[in-house]
Amino acid sequence: DEVVFSGIQPSGIPHIGNYLGLFLPFLELQSSLPRSTPLYLSIVGLHAITLPRDPNILRQERMDMLAALLACGVDPERTCLFYQEDIPEHAELAWILNTLTPVGRLQRMTTWKSQIATRTSSSPDQITDLDLKLGLLAYPTLQSADIMLYKSTIVPVGEDQTQHLELARDTAEAFNRAYGDIFPLPQTRIVPSKRILSLRDPSAKMSKSAPLAASRIVLTDPPEAIRKAVKTAVTDSEPSIKFDPEGRPGVSNLLLIWSSLDPSGQTPEQLAEQAQKDGWGMAKLKDAVTDVVVERFGNIRAEYERIRQEKGWLSQIAGQGRAKAGEVAKKTMEEVRRAVGIDKL
Ligand code: ATP
Repeated sequence: DEVVFSGIQPSGIPHIGNYLGLFLPFLELQSSLPRSTPLYLSIVGLHAITLPRDPNILRQERMDMLAALLACGVDPERTCLFYQEDIPEHAELAWILNTLTPVGRLQRMTTWKSQIATRTSSSPDQITDLDLKLGLLAYPTLQSADIMLYKSTIVPVGEDQTQHLELARDTAEAFNRAYGDIFPLPQTRIVPSKRILSLRDPSAKMSKSAPLAASRIVLTDPPEAIRKAVKTAVTDSEPSIKFDPEGRPGVSNLLLIWSSLDPSGQTPEQLAEQAQKDGWGMAKLKDAVTDVVVERFGNIRAEYERIRQEKGWLSQIAGQGRAKAGEVAKKTMEEVRRAVGIDKL
């Protein structure tokens, strides 16, 4: 039987990449899957602290993420919406999986390699192995634990997570080989595969934690901010409008955003063709993109601001998720402990 799980770090206000890469596919599953299929969506605080965080900001951002997910349409009656750090079994299973995960495999993760690259470029001479923390290296193992704890089979995530999911699958397999068949092998369901790029640097993905705020559009941006971000988005010097993600990533990124939000359901290729036929330049394309984003995010922003004030309701939702997820997590860990031989004596 299918079980859906996904997670998001409380590391800032979600951007349009999170929205198109995770939220929309998740909402699609929420509305299309039979009610008997369990859905889990976790705000993963233990992942967020793999980079230094101010505790007070983190606390606020955890709550803000819950409000943002609800504002986007996650239904807490249908989806088990919970804080990862409320369920101690995540860390416990992660530890056990650490004993099965080859260090070399973790060192080959592109996310880890890009962390090393970022640090090396900012202080090439000063980087030492003391700057790189174990938690950051082991991040994908914790993610495997998140997925496996609920015996998840479908994991809707953005394209940047493919490698981590392959690892989760291999880790589940390694566990089963060592201790018996407990875990199903999760499917890498990237539905649909969308990678939204930074508006400032189309060679990088859009990210919550990138230093330049102008590189992203976030759910709470007012219309003027959205207009400005799209207007100043880096494209290229060719005047034509064409969907060519390899050759022309900047323009293609805008077309992808437009097509993902346009009610007409046209593909980026079709939109590009039409724009080209109508003799549009880049400015016109950017206006069209701005309009669809403003239209979609306007309602979400109002909802978000309203929900954010409802602190009592938010903690009630968190409590409900904690109880539901906790029950399943406890059951899985009992099985795991028995299989490994560390159950109560
Ligand atoms: P951070 O910058 O703090 O690492 P992030 O923006 O990369 O954050 P995560 O919390 O790591 O976001 O990821 C949440 C989900 O959003 C994941 O499923 C991830 O694949 C998806 N996602 C993140 N960035 C993008 C993007 N640019 N395009 C599509 N999906 C994305």
